[in-house]
Amino acid sequence: MKAIKVREFGGPEVLRLEEVEDLEPGPGQVLVRLKAAGVNPVDAYIRSGTYGRKPPLHYTPWMDGAGTVEKIGPKVKGLKKGARVYVESALTGTYAEACLAETRNVHPLPPSLTFPQGAAIGVPYATAHQALFGKAKAKKGETVLVHGASGGTGTAAVQLAKAAQMRVLGTAGTEQGMQLVREQGAAEVFDHKAPDYLERILKFTGGKGVDVLLEMAAQINLGKDLNLLASHGRVVVIGSRGPVEINPRDLMSRDAAILAMTLFNVSPLDKLKIHLDLVKGLKSGKLKPVVGRELPLDQAAQAQEAVLQPGAFGKIVLIPSND
Ligand code: NAP
Repeated sequence: MKAIKVREFGGPEVLRLEEVEDLEPGPGQVLVRLKAAGVNPVDAYIRSGTYGRKPPLHYTPWMDGAGTVEKIGPKVKGLKKGARVYVESALTGTYAEACLAETRNVHPLPPSLTFPQGAAIGVPYATAHQALFGKAKAKKGETVLVHGASGGTGTAAVQLAKAAQMRVLGTAGTEQGMQLVREQGAAEVFDHKAPDYLERILKFTGGKGVDVLLEMAAQINLGKDLNLLASHGRVVVIGSRGPVEINPRDLMSRDAAILAMTLFNVSPLDKLKIHLDLVKGLKSGKLKPVVGRELPLDQAAQAQEAVLQPGAFGKIVLIPSND
């Protein structure tokens, strides 16, 4: 079978498609024939070698994928051959034609969803869920601003907040991205490239501010976010690519809080609970992953370059040439 391999940290060119050995599931594992792999910004940070987490070399990017269960290892219960699934945190990597995964990281993919949509669930939806409910404890009726709503995690956050009956505001940097965020159920969408958009957000809330703010680009926005918060508002930092200055008085005057998260810190049990809830939402149709771009697996380098560029439109996925 074929898989992308990273044999040294570096630029996108270190992602190379190679012929690798076939896989055999061990106890508690299944082999999934992959039809799509999700491309996350963190895949690119890790591959560059500058991220806090460095897997041993060589490795295959492993976060998100979807396909069908092809082989079941010993002591596996509850999964059948042929089942359509999405996979998060695969043992052997998802930028590949097949992967091994522990059963706790394999979840049912409802028939209404395509495999590329399945590959768009793991990191983005679990992150948005943890930020919204696990960290911010957002509740029905609250106003949520998704600051960076046009990408994989942002579209997931808008859908989750909307499904939980919150009033959702979003931002994007292109007309196409803004339209996409509107289609996910946002009550209003703002252009985060417009010079006056922060004032317009505040005005839209009648000067009150937002209860919850999910931040995808804290290195640019965090200082200004604090002035968008309502009394007892909470910002959750999901993404940041550098340092930023804040004025703590902006928090004090509101009894507000800055929270931060990484999906790597969510316990296996909490992750399981999150995915049970996500599968419910996916089955009901309230959650519908948005796939903006599909590229063949051998274009993993281009995909990882693209995921760091502005102009997000849902998720970028890789398609292996199985079939
Ligand atoms: P993505 O699909 O590439 O989307 C990036 C988003 O950031 C887009 O909506 C983009 O909008 C927006 N953005 C760009 N410039 C912005 C600005 N000045 N202000 C506000 N938003 C801006 O990536 P993603 O998967 O959604 O991830 C978003 C961020 O969260 C990334 O930094 C990622 O590393 C991080 N993340 C963290 C975790 C975690 O565990 N903490 C998990 C998943 C993702 P336009 O392109 O429309 O301008």
